[in-house]
Amino acid sequence: MSRTLFICGNWKMNTTRAEAVALAEGAARLAAETPAVEVGACPPACYIEAVVAAAKGSPLVVGGQNMYFEPKGAFTGEIAGPMLMDLGCMCVILGHSERRHVFGEADDLIARKVKAAFEAGLQPILCVGELLDERKAGRTETVVRRHVTSGFEGLAKQQAVQVVIAYEPVWAIGTGETATPDQAQEVHAFIRGLLTEMYDADLAQTVRIQYGGSVKPENAHDLMAQADIDGALVGGASLKTDAFATIVAEGAKAKGQ
Ligand code: PEP
Repeated sequence: MSRTLFICGNWKMNTTRAEAVALAEGAARLAAETPAVEVGACPPACYIEAVVAAAKGSPLVVGGQNMYFEPKGAFTGEIAGPMLMDLGCMCVILGHSERRHVFGEADDLIARKVKAAFEAGLQPILCVGELLDERKAGRTETVVRRHVTSGFEGLAKQQAVQVVIAYEPVWAIGTGETATPDQAQEVHAFIRGLLTEMYDADLAQTVRIQYGGSVKPENAHDLMAQADIDGALVGGASLKTDAFATIVAEGAKAKGQ
């Protein structure tokens, strides 16, 4: 089963408008030059329109970093799925650890957002992953199981197959500390087994599972060489055009493309 590698930048709350446009131009060139890899960028919401314009005509996938589950209404400060669509987004990151642990988003809220993303026509990138204390206590699989099962709650097979899962151990995000390729592969294989239990083997072999957590040019190859790692969600290193390009090239090389 060959799954297209999906490498997506999460720019978080960074860049000026001009920096976002420059990064988008680089990512758009990269996406055009590397057709074997799906290349994505999730800029701050206020720059999505500028990024979409800069990437026009290229295969760069532009996404949101978050959204609310209601399509419109009195929800000050929130952004709706249909708004992201209107701006030209194709996907949206949901349940990122910063949303879970800085903003207190709970599993049921994230599950509602996943459904709302599909209603809006957006592909969800569902982030899952354990805290350091949870890993130390041997609870990684329990936590990841909870994140995956609640995130997929109520999804029919034809929707579930389109979800991209990002396994992001929280202790590796923005810390410079990366899960070893073996540690990451172990959890990715666990998630694929879980999807087999929840749906079937066919679906489990089709769903793409990205790794995220301090992915950089130096570790990208060995991570993406793992059988169940189908790409990366990249924070810090996606803010540098050269580093992001090297990660994409290393990913393609790791998969023999
Ligand atoms: C992320 O934001 O999803 C992430 C993995 O960040 P970093 O690559 O900086 O650890």
